[in-house]
Amino acid sequence: MDKLRERRNLFILGVAIATSGLALYYMLSKKKKKLTIDQQLNLDRDKLHIINRIKDKYHISYENMVKIKGHILSEFQLGLQKVDGESQSSIKMLPTFITKKPNGTEEGICYALDVGGTNARAIKVKLDGNGKAEILETRKQVIPSSLMNGRGDDLFDFLAACLSDVLDEGAERYSIGFTFSFPVDQRNVRSGYLIKWTKGFNTSDVTGKDVVKLLDQALERAGIKAEITVLINDTVGTLIASSYLNTEHETIAGIILGTGSNAAYVEKQSSIEKLDEKDNDGIMVINTEWGNFDSPLYKYLIPTEQDIMLDKDSINFSQQHFEKMISGMYLGEIVRLELMELSESSLFRHNNSENILKPYHFGTEMMSEIEKDNTPTLSNIESFLSKLSIPNTTYFERKLLKELCTAVSVRSARLVAAAIAAIVEKVGKIDEHCIVAVDGSLYELYPNYADNIKNALNEMGYSKVILKLTKDGSGIGAALAAAVLSNE
Ligand code: ADP
Ligand code: MG
Repeated sequence: MDKLRERRNLFILGVAIATSGLALYYMLSKKKKKLTIDQQLNLDRDKLHIINRIKDKYHISYENMVKIKGHILSEFQLGLQKVDGESQSSIKMLPTFITKKPNGTEEGICYALDVGGTNARAIKVKLDGNGKAEILETRKQVIPSSLMNGRGDDLFDFLAACLSDVLDEGAERYSIGFTFSFPVDQRNVRSGYLIKWTKGFNTSDVTGKDVVKLLDQALERAGIKAEITVLINDTVGTLIASSYLNTEHETIAGIILGTGSNAAYVEKQSSIEKLDEKDNDGIMVINTEWGNFDSPLYKYLIPTEQDIMLDKDSINFSQQHFEKMISGMYLGEIVRLELMELSESSLFRHNNSENILKPYHFGTEMMSEIEKDNTPTLSNIESFLSKLSIPNTTYFERKLLKELCTAVSVRSARLVAAAIAAIVEKVGKIDEHCIVAVDGSLYELYPNYADNIKNALNEMGYSKVILKLTKDGSGIGAALAAAVLSNE
């Protein structure tokens, strides 16, 4: 009997040992399997180190973000001061002579022409007087590179033709808002002299001239009877459009994150020292031209070798340093220059594709595609790269590329957050909910980009800022401004 019990106990013990053995084997083999996948994917410690080096290279710490905010704020103050000759500030702080914002009750049909860095867009807008704007007609054309580097008259003839497509036939005379997204010197809302080209433009016979007059003359050559009622910057248009569309909170700024980057905000006229005539109780929108922050010398930003190379080979060397770290025109080029360097040390072996070899052939929209891939083996990146004649990448190369894109785009977002914080501080709205309106394809389309700005703002303690995508704000704002002014 005892023997029988002993045997049964032994049997139970045996089964228990076998079960735990099996469980242990299963656990270990699972772990082993995981290791095997990692090995298959080729991510050993050296490779992880390379990825971390790239991340560190483009990381902007909390402390740096706060420091940069402070420097931008000081440059804002300096830019508003009266100076004899050239301002000491790298940020121009241009008065726009826009002294009021719409209140949502404006109505009627109006037209606008919006010239960005990539596209020219003409629109016909219906304002219903209840804070709604409906785009009835739109004509969007990419500005050909031949015109970006050609003659001024040809560029303006092209713009006039673009505008004529949305104008109703038979009207006596049209009132048009003109959004021109380059720095201009304005003395009133109906004229503006181009200070310098940015964003890759180099058209002759325009710098120093009144761009309203140039468009007027082109309209006349085309036989179109139209009056340019207002000239504004795209940032100003975005601010104005948001003021009309969002009445629940005050819009304090309009920001562009597209081909280039810039911001406009609402300032007290009494704080604009350099304004000759002012209404001390009034406001005026200031076009900051923040893209030029920290130029001609890098004093506060910490450029990578790639930033320096990009600047050196650009057509506006030593200008727009901030923009060159932020905006859509440049992010892809920074990534391309990094890939060139990585390919020299064989870490990215695909330097025979045009997209890697030729300057500006790796666009920011390609970074967007790369960042969209969340598959475990980054297989979407594989097919995307194959289409660019970059086939047979390893997992490591794809991972490295994706991390590089993230590092460069997150740096851009954190720099933008520092600059937005500077504006919020300038207008004293840290503790109030306020809207910062944003327009531009980079902000609208790049994965996680908007969240990255918002998170960085929260990190710095500016959590009450509401970022609001204001699509087509730059054009709608010009049409609105034309409507507001033509009612005066
Ligand atoms: P503009 O600057 O002429 O007003 P946009 O706001 O549309 O025009 O910006 C165009 C720029 O945005 C392009 O030059 C490109 O750098 C960037 N861009 C376009 N598509 C995307 C995308 N899907 N993701 C990120 N950036 C993009
Ligand atoms: Mg635009």
